Amino acid sequence: MQNIMSEPGIKTAVSFHNTQIAFEHRSNKDLKKAYWLFSAFKYPVLVNYGPKLAGVALSLKLPFKNLIKNTLFAQFCGGETIEECEHTIKDLSSAGIGTILDYSVEGEEKEEVFEATCNEIIDTINKAKGNAGIPFTVFKVTGIGRFDLLEKVNKHKALNVNEEREYEKVKQRFELICRTAHDSDVRVFVDAEESWIQDTIDRLTMDMMKRYNTSKAIVYNTIQLYRHDRYEYLKKTIAENTFFMGFKLVRGAYMEKERARAQATGYRSPIQLTKEDTDRDYNKAMELCIQHLNKVSICAGTHNEESCTFLTELIDKNNIDRNDPRIYCSQLLGMSDHISYNLANAGYNVAKYVPYGPVIAVLPYLSRRAKENSSVKGQVGRELGLITEELKRRKLSKD
Ligand SMILES: Cc1cc2nc3c(=O)[nH]c(=O)nc-3n(C[C@H](O)[C@H](O)[C@H](O)COP(=O)(O)OP(=O)(O)OC[C@H]3O[C@@H](n4cnc5c(N)ncnc54)[C@H](O)[C@@H]3O)c2cc1C
Repeated sequence: MQNIMSEPGIKTAVSFHNTQIAFEHRSNKDLKKAYWLFSAFKYPVLVNYGPKLAGVALSLKLPFKNLIKNTLFAQFCGGETIEECEHTIKDLSSAGIGTILDYSVEGEEKEEVFEATCNEIIDTINKAKGNAGIPFTVFKVTGIGRFDLLEKVNKHKALNVNEEREYEKVKQRFELICRTAHDSDVRVFVDAEESWIQDTIDRLTMDMMKRYNTSKAIVYNTIQLYRHDRYEYLKKTIAENTFFMGFKLVRGAYMEKERARAQATGYRSPIQLTKEDTDRDYNKAMELCIQHLNKVSICAGTHNEESCTFLTELIDKNNIDRNDPRIYCSQLLGMSDHISYNLANAGYNVAKYVPYGPVIAVLPYLSRRAKENSSVKGQVGRELGLITEELKRRKLSKD
Protein backbone atom coordinates (compact mmCIF):
# COMPACT_ATOMS: atom_id res chain seq x y z
CA MET A 1 0.00 0.00 0.00
CA GLN A 2 1.16 3.50 -0.84
CA ASN A 3 2.24 5.41 2.26
CA ILE A 4 2.12 9.17 2.13
CA MET A 5 4.58 9.49 5.02
CA SER A 6 7.22 7.69 3.02
CA GLU A 7 9.77 10.55 3.09
CA PRO A 8 11.36 10.57 6.53
CA GLY A 9 10.54 13.65 8.59
CA ILE A 10 7.99 15.04 6.13
CA LYS A 11 4.43 14.97 7.35
CA THR A 12 1.85 15.43 4.61
CA ALA A 13 -1.70 16.48 5.43
CA VAL A 14 -4.14 13.61 5.11
CA SER A 15 -6.67 13.53 2.28
CA PHE A 16 -9.81 11.41 2.49
CA HIS A 17 -10.33 11.42 -1.27
CA ASN A 18 -7.94 8.64 -2.17
CA THR A 19 -10.44 5.90 -3.06
CA GLN A 20 -7.67 3.49 -4.03
CA ILE A 21 -6.44 3.44 -0.42
CA ALA A 22 -9.98 3.53 0.96
CA PHE A 23 -11.15 0.45 -0.96
CA GLU A 24 -7.97 -1.55 -1.59
CA HIS A 25 -9.35 -4.29 0.69
CA ARG A 26 -12.55 -4.73 -1.33
CA SER A 27 -13.06 -6.61 -4.60
CA ASN A 28 -15.18 -5.18 -7.45
CA LYS A 29 -17.89 -7.65 -6.47
CA ASP A 30 -17.82 -6.41 -2.85
CA LEU A 31 -18.02 -2.80 -3.98
CA LYS A 32 -20.97 -3.47 -6.28
CA LYS A 33 -22.75 -5.24 -3.42
CA ALA A 34 -22.10 -2.27 -1.11
CA TYR A 35 -23.38 0.08 -3.84
CA TRP A 36 -26.58 -1.92 -4.12
CA LEU A 37 -27.02 -1.92 -0.32
CA PHE A 38 -26.44 1.82 0.17
CA SER A 39 -28.81 2.50 -2.78
CA ALA A 40 -31.50 0.48 -0.99
CA PHE A 41 -31.21 2.82 2.03
CA LYS A 42 -32.83 5.53 -0.10
CA TYR A 43 -36.17 3.69 0.15
CA PRO A 44 -37.83 4.51 3.50
CA VAL A 45 -40.15 1.49 3.30
CA LEU A 46 -37.18 -0.88 3.12
CA VAL A 47 -35.30 0.92 5.92
CA ASN A 48 -38.30 1.17 8.25
CA TYR A 49 -39.84 -2.25 7.74
CA GLY A 50 -37.06 -4.42 6.24
CA PRO A 51 -35.22 -5.34 9.48
CA LYS A 52 -38.54 -5.77 11.37
CA LEU A 53 -39.89 -8.15 8.71
CA ALA A 54 -36.55 -9.95 8.69
CA GLY A 55 -36.88 -10.44 12.48
CA VAL A 56 -40.35 -11.94 12.10
CA ALA A 57 -39.17 -14.16 9.24
CA LEU A 58 -36.19 -15.40 11.25
CA SER A 59 -38.24 -16.12 14.37
CA LEU A 60 -40.63 -18.14 12.16
CA LYS A 61 -37.54 -20.02 10.93
CA LEU A 62 -38.13 -18.88 7.35
CA PRO A 63 -34.96 -19.23 5.23
CA PHE A 64 -33.90 -15.55 5.30
CA LYS A 65 -30.79 -15.86 7.40
CA ASN A 66 -28.41 -16.26 4.46
CA LEU A 67 -29.95 -13.31 2.64
CA ILE A 68 -29.42 -11.03 5.66
CA LYS A 69 -26.01 -12.51 6.44
CA ASN A 70 -24.82 -11.80 2.89
CA THR A 71 -26.17 -8.25 2.72
CA LEU A 72 -26.75 -5.94 5.72
CA PHE A 73 -24.89 -8.21 8.15
CA ALA A 74 -21.88 -8.65 5.84
CA GLN A 75 -21.58 -4.87 5.45
CA PHE A 76 -21.84 -3.88 9.11
CA CYS A 77 -20.92 -6.93 11.24
CA GLY A 78 -17.82 -9.06 11.68
CA GLY A 79 -19.60 -12.37 12.33
CA GLU A 80 -21.91 -14.19 14.69
CA THR A 81 -19.13 -15.11 17.12
CA ILE A 82 -15.69 -13.82 18.07
CA GLU A 83 -14.14 -16.66 16.01
CA GLU A 84 -16.15 -15.61 12.94
CA CYS A 85 -14.71 -12.07 13.28
CA GLU A 86 -11.19 -13.41 12.81
CA HIS A 87 -11.00 -12.61 9.08
CA THR A 88 -12.23 -9.03 9.69
CA ILE A 89 -9.66 -8.55 12.48
CA LYS A 90 -6.91 -9.77 10.11
CA ASP A 91 -8.12 -7.67 7.15
CA LEU A 92 -8.27 -4.49 9.25
CA SER A 93 -4.97 -5.26 10.90
CA SER A 94 -3.21 -5.68 7.55
CA ALA A 95 -4.19 -2.07 6.77
CA GLY A 96 -2.95 -0.90 10.17
CA ILE A 97 -6.47 -0.55 11.58
CA GLY A 98 -7.44 -1.93 14.98
CA THR A 99 -10.61 -3.85 15.81
CA ILE A 100 -12.98 -3.06 18.67
CA LEU A 101 -15.12 -6.17 19.18
CA ASP A 102 -18.62 -4.92 20.00
CA TYR A 103 -21.07 -7.56 21.21
CA SER A 104 -24.15 -5.92 19.74
CA VAL A 105 -26.86 -8.18 21.05
CA GLU A 106 -29.85 -6.33 22.47
CA GLY A 107 -31.57 -9.05 24.44
CA GLU A 108 -34.31 -9.28 26.99
CA GLU A 109 -33.82 -7.47 30.30
CA LYS A 110 -33.27 -10.59 32.39
CA GLU A 111 -30.56 -11.35 34.95
CA GLU A 112 -29.36 -14.42 33.02
CA VAL A 113 -29.05 -12.34 29.82
CA PHE A 114 -27.05 -9.65 31.69
CA GLU A 115 -24.77 -12.37 33.11
CA ALA A 116 -24.27 -13.91 29.65
CA THR A 117 -23.50 -10.48 28.15
CA CYS A 118 -21.00 -9.75 30.92
CA ASN A 119 -19.29 -13.09 30.22
CA GLU A 120 -19.18 -12.31 26.50
CA ILE A 121 -17.56 -8.91 27.19
CA ILE A 122 -14.96 -10.68 29.34
CA ASP A 123 -14.35 -13.01 26.35
CA THR A 124 -13.67 -9.97 24.12
CA ILE A 125 -11.15 -8.72 26.70
CA ASN A 126 -9.45 -12.12 26.78
CA LYS A 127 -9.35 -12.10 22.98
CA ALA A 128 -7.78 -8.60 22.99
CA LYS A 129 -5.16 -9.49 25.63
CA GLY A 130 -1.71 -9.25 24.03
CA ASN A 131 -3.31 -8.76 20.57
CA ALA A 132 -2.05 -5.56 18.92
CA GLY A 133 -4.87 -5.86 16.35
CA ILE A 134 -7.50 -5.29 19.08
CA PRO A 135 -6.52 -2.08 20.90
CA PHE A 136 -9.87 -1.55 22.71
CA THR A 137 -12.96 -3.34 23.94
CA VAL A 138 -16.38 -1.81 24.59
CA PHE A 139 -19.65 -2.30 26.39
CA LYS A 140 -22.96 -0.63 27.16
CA VAL A 141 -24.18 -0.47 30.78
CA THR A 142 -27.71 -1.35 29.57
CA GLY A 143 -26.18 -4.65 28.39
CA ILE A 144 -25.43 -5.61 31.99
CA GLY A 145 -28.25 -3.87 33.90
CA ARG A 146 -31.94 -2.99 33.59
CA PHE A 147 -32.70 0.40 32.05
CA ASP A 148 -35.48 1.33 34.53
CA LEU A 149 -33.21 0.49 37.45
CA LEU A 150 -30.43 2.72 36.08
CA GLU A 151 -33.02 5.48 35.63
CA LYS A 152 -34.22 5.14 39.22
CA VAL A 153 -30.64 5.40 40.46
CA ASN A 154 -30.17 8.42 38.20
CA LYS A 155 -33.13 10.12 39.87
CA HIS A 156 -31.69 9.33 43.33
CA LYS A 157 -34.89 7.48 44.20
CA ALA A 158 -34.79 5.03 47.09
CA LEU A 159 -34.35 1.43 45.94
CA ASN A 160 -36.25 -1.40 47.60
CA VAL A 161 -34.34 -4.43 48.96
CA ASN A 162 -34.60 -6.39 45.71
CA GLU A 163 -33.52 -3.42 43.65
CA GLU A 164 -30.58 -2.80 45.99
CA ARG A 165 -29.49 -6.38 45.39
CA GLU A 166 -30.02 -6.03 41.66
CA TYR A 167 -27.99 -2.82 41.50
CA GLU A 168 -25.22 -4.43 43.52
CA LYS A 169 -25.05 -7.10 40.77
CA VAL A 170 -24.76 -4.40 38.07
CA LYS A 171 -21.87 -2.81 39.98
CA GLN A 172 -20.18 -6.20 40.41
CA ARG A 173 -20.40 -6.90 36.66
CA PHE A 174 -19.08 -3.42 35.87
CA GLU A 175 -16.21 -3.92 38.29
CA LEU A 176 -15.42 -7.40 36.95
CA ILE A 177 -15.19 -6.05 33.38
CA CYS A 178 -12.90 -3.16 34.40
CA ARG A 179 -10.73 -5.31 36.66
CA THR A 180 -10.28 -7.94 33.92
CA ALA A 181 -9.44 -5.15 31.46
CA HIS A 182 -6.88 -3.71 33.87
CA ASP A 183 -5.29 -7.10 34.67
CA SER A 184 -5.14 -7.91 30.92
CA ASP A 185 -3.81 -4.46 29.97
CA VAL A 186 -6.74 -3.96 27.58
CA ARG A 187 -8.51 -0.60 27.26
CA VAL A 188 -12.29 -0.57 27.61
CA PHE A 189 -14.82 2.02 26.39
CA VAL A 190 -18.08 2.54 28.27
CA ASP A 191 -20.59 3.71 25.65
CA ALA A 192 -22.78 6.75 26.38
CA GLU A 193 -26.56 6.33 26.33
CA GLU A 194 -29.75 8.33 27.04
CA SER A 195 -29.28 11.44 29.23
CA TRP A 196 -31.74 10.17 31.85
CA ILE A 197 -29.41 7.27 32.74
CA GLN A 198 -26.10 8.95 31.87
CA ASP A 199 -25.32 10.36 35.36
CA THR A 200 -25.42 6.80 36.70
CA ILE A 201 -23.11 5.64 33.90
CA ASP A 202 -20.76 8.59 34.55
CA ARG A 203 -20.54 7.86 38.28
CA LEU A 204 -19.87 4.14 37.78
CA THR A 205 -17.29 4.87 35.09
CA MET A 206 -15.47 7.58 37.05
CA ASP A 207 -15.20 5.21 40.05
CA MET A 208 -13.60 2.59 37.81
CA MET A 209 -11.27 5.13 36.18
CA LYS A 210 -10.07 6.21 39.60
CA ARG A 211 -9.48 2.60 40.63
CA TYR A 212 -8.00 1.11 37.47
CA ASN A 213 -6.39 3.93 35.47
CA THR A 214 -3.33 3.64 37.68
CA SER A 215 -0.52 3.97 35.15
CA LYS A 216 -2.51 4.94 32.04
CA ALA A 217 -6.11 5.19 30.77
CA ILE A 218 -7.68 1.73 30.76
CA VAL A 219 -11.32 2.70 31.38
CA TYR A 220 -12.76 5.36 29.03
CA ASN A 221 -16.02 7.25 29.48
CA THR A 222 -17.94 8.57 26.46
CA ILE A 223 -18.82 12.25 26.09
CA GLN A 224 -21.74 13.23 23.82
CA LEU A 225 -21.11 16.72 22.50
CA TYR A 226 -24.66 17.09 21.13
CA ARG A 227 -25.54 17.87 24.76
CA HIS A 228 -25.06 21.52 25.64
CA ASP A 229 -23.69 20.69 29.10
CA ARG A 230 -21.04 18.14 28.18
CA TYR A 231 -18.12 20.34 27.23
CA GLU A 232 -18.33 21.99 30.67
CA TYR A 233 -18.63 18.56 32.32
CA LEU A 234 -15.50 17.40 30.48
CA LYS A 235 -13.60 20.56 31.41
CA LYS A 236 -14.55 20.28 35.09
CA THR A 237 -13.75 16.55 35.22
CA ILE A 238 -10.30 17.11 33.72
CA ALA A 239 -9.60 20.08 36.01
CA GLU A 240 -10.70 18.34 39.22
CA ASN A 241 -8.91 15.01 38.84
CA THR A 242 -5.29 14.01 38.81
CA PHE A 243 -5.64 10.32 37.86
CA PHE A 244 -5.39 9.14 34.23
CA MET A 245 -8.62 9.64 32.30
CA GLY A 246 -9.85 8.25 29.00
CA PHE A 247 -12.60 9.86 26.93
CA LYS A 248 -14.31 8.70 23.76
CA LEU A 249 -15.73 11.81 22.13
CA VAL A 250 -18.90 11.41 20.06
CA ARG A 251 -21.66 13.74 18.90
CA GLY A 252 -24.45 11.47 20.18
CA ALA A 253 -26.89 8.94 18.79
CA TYR A 254 -30.22 9.64 20.52
CA MET A 255 -31.04 13.18 19.37
CA GLU A 256 -34.64 12.67 18.23
CA LYS A 257 -35.49 10.58 21.30
CA GLU A 258 -33.92 13.18 23.65
CA ARG A 259 -35.77 16.08 22.07
CA ALA A 260 -39.11 14.24 21.95
CA ARG A 261 -38.88 13.23 25.64
CA ALA A 262 -37.91 16.74 26.74
CA GLN A 263 -40.85 18.21 24.84
CA ALA A 264 -43.33 15.60 26.05
CA THR A 265 -42.20 15.87 29.69
CA GLY A 266 -41.75 19.64 29.66
CA TYR A 267 -38.08 20.13 30.56
CA ARG A 268 -35.34 21.96 28.67
CA SER A 269 -33.91 19.73 25.96
CA PRO A 270 -30.34 18.62 26.76
CA ILE A 271 -29.52 18.83 23.04
CA GLN A 272 -27.69 21.79 21.51
CA LEU A 273 -29.82 24.24 19.56
CA THR A 274 -28.00 23.71 16.26
CA LYS A 275 -25.65 21.27 14.56
CA GLU A 276 -23.04 24.05 14.46
CA ASP A 277 -23.12 24.23 18.28
CA THR A 278 -22.48 20.48 18.43
CA ASP A 279 -19.62 20.74 15.92
CA ARG A 280 -18.05 23.66 17.84
CA ASP A 281 -18.13 21.79 21.17
CA TYR A 282 -16.81 18.64 19.51
CA ASN A 283 -13.74 20.48 18.25
CA LYS A 284 -13.29 22.29 21.58
CA ALA A 285 -13.43 18.96 23.41
CA MET A 286 -10.72 17.47 21.18
CA GLU A 287 -8.56 20.55 21.71
CA LEU A 288 -9.02 20.38 25.49
CA CYS A 289 -8.07 16.69 25.64
CA ILE A 290 -4.98 17.23 23.50
CA GLN A 291 -3.92 20.07 25.85
CA HIS A 292 -4.07 17.61 28.77
CA LEU A 293 -2.41 14.58 27.22
CA ASN A 294 -0.28 14.24 30.35
CA LYS A 295 -3.35 12.72 32.05
CA VAL A 296 -5.96 12.36 29.29
CA SER A 297 -6.29 9.85 26.43
CA ILE A 298 -8.89 10.28 23.72
CA CYS A 299 -10.66 8.47 20.96
CA ALA A 300 -12.63 10.53 18.44
CA GLY A 301 -15.60 8.35 17.45
CA THR A 302 -16.83 10.13 14.35
CA HIS A 303 -17.55 9.85 10.62
CA ASN A 304 -17.19 13.60 10.19
CA GLU A 305 -14.31 14.43 7.83
CA GLU A 306 -13.80 17.93 9.27
CA SER A 307 -13.52 16.62 12.83
CA CYS A 308 -10.99 14.00 11.74
CA THR A 309 -8.98 16.60 9.82
CA PHE A 310 -9.08 18.92 12.85
CA LEU A 311 -7.72 16.13 15.06
CA THR A 312 -4.87 15.35 12.61
CA GLU A 313 -4.00 19.07 12.53
CA LEU A 314 -3.93 19.21 16.33
CA ILE A 315 -1.61 16.20 16.41
CA ASP A 316 0.77 17.55 13.77
CA LYS A 317 0.72 21.17 14.99
CA ASN A 318 1.66 20.05 18.50
CA ASN A 319 4.43 17.77 17.20
CA ILE A 320 2.80 14.71 18.71
CA ASP A 321 3.66 11.34 17.16
CA ARG A 322 0.90 10.27 14.82
CA ASN A 323 0.91 6.85 16.46
CA ASP A 324 0.85 8.17 20.06
CA PRO A 325 -1.24 5.48 21.83
CA ARG A 326 -3.16 8.17 23.75
CA ILE A 327 -4.91 9.39 20.59
CA TYR A 328 -7.21 7.34 18.38
CA CYS A 329 -9.88 7.94 15.80
CA SER A 330 -12.67 5.43 15.35
CA GLN A 331 -15.41 4.60 12.88
CA LEU A 332 -17.97 1.79 12.59
CA LEU A 333 -17.34 -1.24 10.37
CA GLY A 334 -18.88 -0.76 6.95
CA MET A 335 -18.99 3.03 7.19
CA SER A 336 -16.57 5.79 6.18
CA ASP A 337 -13.75 3.51 5.04
CA HIS A 338 -12.35 6.50 3.15
CA ILE A 339 -11.65 8.11 6.54
CA SER A 340 -10.38 5.02 8.39
CA TYR A 341 -8.08 3.67 5.66
CA ASN A 342 -6.63 7.05 4.65
CA LEU A 343 -5.96 8.01 8.28
CA ALA A 344 -4.27 4.67 8.98
CA ASN A 345 -2.24 4.97 5.78
CA ALA A 346 -1.01 8.38 6.94
CA GLY A 347 0.19 6.83 10.19
CA TYR A 348 -2.58 7.91 12.61
CA ASN A 349 -4.12 5.46 15.08
CA VAL A 350 -7.47 4.13 13.87
CA ALA A 351 -9.75 1.41 15.19
CA LYS A 352 -13.14 0.27 13.92
CA TYR A 353 -16.06 -0.99 15.98
CA VAL A 354 -16.70 -4.54 14.73
CA PRO A 355 -20.19 -5.49 15.91
CA TYR A 356 -20.95 -9.19 16.21
CA GLY A 357 -23.62 -11.56 17.53
CA PRO A 358 -26.29 -13.94 16.24
CA VAL A 359 -28.02 -12.50 13.14
CA ILE A 360 -31.47 -12.28 14.75
CA ALA A 361 -30.06 -10.59 17.87
CA VAL A 362 -28.15 -7.87 16.01
CA LEU A 363 -31.14 -6.86 13.84
CA PRO A 364 -31.93 -3.81 16.03
CA TYR A 365 -28.31 -2.65 15.53
CA LEU A 366 -28.57 -3.23 11.77
CA SER A 367 -31.87 -1.39 11.66
CA ARG A 368 -30.25 1.65 13.34
CA ARG A 369 -27.35 1.59 10.83
CA ALA A 370 -29.82 1.44 7.94
CA LYS A 371 -31.80 4.39 9.40
CA GLU A 372 -28.65 6.37 10.19
CA ASN A 373 -27.38 5.89 6.65
CA SER A 374 -30.67 7.04 5.20
CA SER A 375 -31.09 10.06 7.49
CA VAL A 376 -27.60 11.44 8.17
CA LYS A 377 -27.31 14.32 5.75
CA GLY A 378 -25.43 13.23 2.65
CA GLN A 379 -24.14 9.94 4.16
CA VAL A 380 -25.63 7.66 1.47
CA GLY A 381 -24.65 10.04 -1.31
CA ARG A 382 -21.10 10.20 0.04
CA GLU A 383 -20.70 6.40 0.24
CA LEU A 384 -22.26 5.91 -3.24
CA GLY A 385 -20.11 8.66 -4.76
CA LEU A 386 -16.90 7.16 -3.37
CA ILE A 387 -17.75 3.63 -4.54
CA THR A 388 -18.64 4.91 -8.04
CA GLU A 389 -15.37 6.86 -8.21
CA GLU A 390 -13.33 3.81 -7.23
CA LEU A 391 -15.07 1.46 -9.68
CA LYS A 392 -14.45 4.05 -12.44
CA ARG A 393 -10.79 4.40 -11.42
CA ARG A 394 -10.29 0.63 -11.50
CA LYS A 395 -11.89 0.39 -14.95
CA LEU A 396 -9.71 3.20 -16.32
CA SER A 397 -6.50 1.76 -14.84
CA LYS A 398 -7.29 -1.58 -16.58
CA ASP A 399 -8.05 0.02 -19.97
C1 LIG B 1 -16.68 4.67 16.97
C2 LIG B 1 -17.99 5.27 17.35
C3 LIG B 1 -18.48 5.12 18.64
C4 LIG B 1 -19.69 5.69 19.00
N1 LIG B 1 -20.15 5.57 20.29
C5 LIG B 1 -21.28 6.21 20.66
C6 LIG B 1 -21.72 6.19 22.03
O1 LIG B 1 -21.10 5.57 22.89
N2 LIG B 1 -22.87 6.85 22.34
C7 LIG B 1 -23.57 7.58 21.41
O2 LIG B 1 -24.58 8.21 21.76
N3 LIG B 1 -23.18 7.60 20.12
C8 LIG B 1 -22.07 6.92 19.73
N4 LIG B 1 -21.67 6.98 18.42
C9 LIG B 1 -22.55 7.62 17.39
C10 LIG B 1 -22.26 9.11 17.30
O3 LIG B 1 -22.67 9.72 18.50
C11 LIG B 1 -23.00 9.81 16.14
O4 LIG B 1 -24.39 9.58 16.24
C12 LIG B 1 -22.59 9.39 14.77
O5 LIG B 1 -21.24 9.03 14.71
C13 LIG B 1 -22.82 10.56 13.79
O6 LIG B 1 -22.04 11.68 14.16
P1 LIG B 1 -20.67 12.05 13.41
O7 LIG B 1 -19.77 12.77 14.32
O8 LIG B 1 -20.14 10.80 12.83
O9 LIG B 1 -21.07 12.92 12.15
P2 LIG B 1 -21.99 14.11 11.71
O10 LIG B 1 -22.76 13.54 10.56
O11 LIG B 1 -21.20 15.33 11.47
O12 LIG B 1 -22.99 14.44 12.87
C14 LIG B 1 -24.27 13.92 13.02
C15 LIG B 1 -24.57 14.10 14.48
O13 LIG B 1 -24.60 15.49 14.83
C16 LIG B 1 -25.60 15.75 15.82
N5 LIG B 1 -26.60 16.64 15.23
C17 LIG B 1 -27.22 16.50 14.02
N6 LIG B 1 -28.11 17.50 13.82
C18 LIG B 1 -28.06 18.29 14.92
C19 LIG B 1 -28.76 19.47 15.32
N7 LIG B 1 -29.69 20.02 14.53
N8 LIG B 1 -28.47 20.00 16.51
C20 LIG B 1 -27.53 19.46 17.32
N9 LIG B 1 -26.83 18.35 17.00
C21 LIG B 1 -27.08 17.77 15.82
C22 LIG B 1 -26.18 14.38 16.17
O14 LIG B 1 -25.45 13.87 17.25
C23 LIG B 1 -25.93 13.55 14.91
O15 LIG B 1 -25.85 12.17 15.18
C24 LIG B 1 -20.45 6.41 18.04
C25 LIG B 1 -19.95 6.57 16.74
C26 LIG B 1 -18.73 6.03 16.39
C27 LIG B 1 -18.23 6.22 15.00
